Amino acid sequence: MGKTSGFLDYERADGNVICESERVKNFWEFHERLSLKAQQNQAARCMDCGIPFCQSGTMISGMASGCPLHNLVPEMNELVYRGNMEEAYKRLSITHSFPEFTSRVCPALCEAACTCGLGDSPVSTKENEKAVIEYAYENGLVSEPTSATGTGKKVAIVGSGPSGLAAASLLNRRGHEVTVYERSDRVGGLLRYGIPNMKLDKSVIDRRIKLMEDAGVKFVVNTNVGKDIKPATLMKEYDSVILACGASNPRDINAPGRDAKGIFFAVDFLHQVTKRLLDSEFNEFPYDLAKDKDVIVIGGGDTGNDCVGSCIRLGAKSVTQLEMMPKPSEERLPSNPWPEWPRVLKTDYGQEEAIWKFGSDPRVYQTTVKEFKKDKKGNLKEVVLVSLKSEKDPKTGRFNMVPIEGSEKTVPCQLVLIAAGFLGSEKYVTDSFKVEVDARTNVKTEKDKFKTSKDNIYVTGDMHRGQSLVVWAIAEGRNVAKEVDEALMGYTNL
Ligand SMILES: Cc1cc2nc3c(=O)[nH]c(=O)nc-3n(C[C@H](O)[C@H](O)[C@H](O)COP(=O)(O)OP(=O)(O)OC[C@H]3O[C@@H](n4cnc5c(N)ncnc54)[C@H](O)[C@@H]3O)c2cc1C
Ligand code: SF4
Repeated sequence: MGKTSGFLDYERADGNVICESERVKNFWEFHERLSLKAQQNQAARCMDCGIPFCQSGTMISGMASGCPLHNLVPEMNELVYRGNMEEAYKRLSITHSFPEFTSRVCPALCEAACTCGLGDSPVSTKENEKAVIEYAYENGLVSEPTSATGTGKKVAIVGSGPSGLAAASLLNRRGHEVTVYERSDRVGGLLRYGIPNMKLDKSVIDRRIKLMEDAGVKFVVNTNVGKDIKPATLMKEYDSVILACGASNPRDINAPGRDAKGIFFAVDFLHQVTKRLLDSEFNEFPYDLAKDKDVIVIGGGDTGNDCVGSCIRLGAKSVTQLEMMPKPSEERLPSNPWPEWPRVLKTDYGQEEAIWKFGSDPRVYQTTVKEFKKDKKGNLKEVVLVSLKSEKDPKTGRFNMVPIEGSEKTVPCQLVLIAAGFLGSEKYVTDSFKVEVDARTNVKTEKDKFKTSKDNIYVTGDMHRGQSLVVWAIAEGRNVAKEVDEALMGYTNL
């Protein structure tokens, strides 16, 4: 424990957040950092409480409590408090591959499980992590370790999201020859083309990829494995193949009029926005995608929130976000005690911006789309909304959200973004590799293992566990690397 009275001496303070009216003018990140001194005081709030749930990553009631990477949170906090940032970086690097990503996009499972958060605000571990990794970059401490001797073994990784990258980094460090195949034109998976630039500046990915390339990892973009390259070719050329293709199969909304022009999956829309920003080096904003349009985002989750924030930056006339479920409680319920992940109402950056711009929360609960209406040219012009209520299915005994008759309402709408979740892996990939999948189309393995039903083929990340979080993808990527290394070498020291 760094400072015995730190949690009494200092109140929680976070870095400045640029106000809505300024940040919606561009796509830049808007969370600023505290000074190093102020961050040290924040780290002093860590009580080293003896039972650090923050680093446990234990599943409680089906949700992770604490960091899935088991970052050594109290140890890192103490080193930050003492101003020993180099050692803090070394400590963080023992468990983590890319703190620069999670310190921007992680929902901070560590903070939700922080003992300090029981009676006060939790320790700002996520911002401490950002201070450590950015200090390390600024002072030339970050490198991708390499092995003095190669093993002569070759590994192909299909997909360059956080999971594929984490696996590539560790396997390369061990001396294996690693090639990452990516079907998109740029590396990064959903870090690149899902999460918007204002949450994760894409230069942060480029900075890491450059280090990985310098350390010997090969990246092959614009190459769709299963279409451009046959799995058999990869299997012949490489000793092991890791599938890290994500859970990119989006859930659709099958209402009449679905074929209207102006209805997109959220991820395709967000991909297009970021690609056009990057292609124009941020000189041209793709206003044509949303300007002056009434936008309806279907899905009240994080992806929907990213769509709300993006549409506001692109000059939408109005933005409504539909959520099928009832509004969550604003406070923890007794049935959801600490250190469980708190299932409470969260107002994220996009929703804050909508409240600033339009004067009200964009979220409408217990509502879905009944019909899409189009004009004579087939363009979307209106959407029929319907309210929902919870009703018990007499056959299964389960509660379902069902439409309330007579509650229909027609609203103008020229752009719909479907952010209703993901159904799992894509069939053409799993079929071409002939790997078994489960009922959710996640690729099957033994529990806590990564080998698929086919020899020398492994799976990791969202393609394995279903749509999840960056921190889980990195944890899986590190673990699959260990399993592959052990299979190739007879033991692993990763
Ligand atoms: C809009 C959005 C916002 C999100 N925001 C957050 C957030 O703020 N915080 C958070 O923790 N999580 C967030 N997530 C979830 C997080 O991004 C994912 O859990 C994580 O990226 C999964 O990593 P992955 O490596 O398994 O797969 P992905 O990141 O999905 O990467 C898979 C890659 O494989 C490539 N690929 C697929 N098939 C092939 C093929 N056949 N050949 C070659 N390449 C292929 C894809 O093009 C893709 O680049 C968000 C998700 C979305 C959709
Ligand atoms: S990766 Fe996420 S959960 Fe883990 S310590 Fe960092 S912010 Fe917390």
